[in-house]
Amino acid sequence: MKGDLLKKALALLEEGRVLPLGEAVLVASSTPGKWYAVRRGWCACPGFKNHGRCKHALAAELAARKVEKVG
Ligand SMILES: [Zn+2]
Repeated sequence: MKGDLLKKALALLEEGRVLPLGEAVLVASSTPGKWYAVRRGWCACPGFKNHGRCKHALAAELAARKVEKVG
C-alpha cells in the first residue's frame, strides 16, 4: 500500500501536477480541474482525513525535498 502511494505521488510529480505556492503546495486531483492544497504535510482530501496520509501530501513532501536539493 505504501509503495503504491509513493508510485502515485511520483507520477503526480512527473506529470507536473504539483505546484509549490508560497507555504502551500497545490496538487492536482484525479478529478480534472480540481486541486488540493497541502500545507505543512496536511491535505484536505478525504483520503488524508481517513488515513492520515495521501498521495498529495506525499507528492508535496517529495517536491519540497527536490527544491531543497536544487537550492
Ligand atoms: Zn490528499
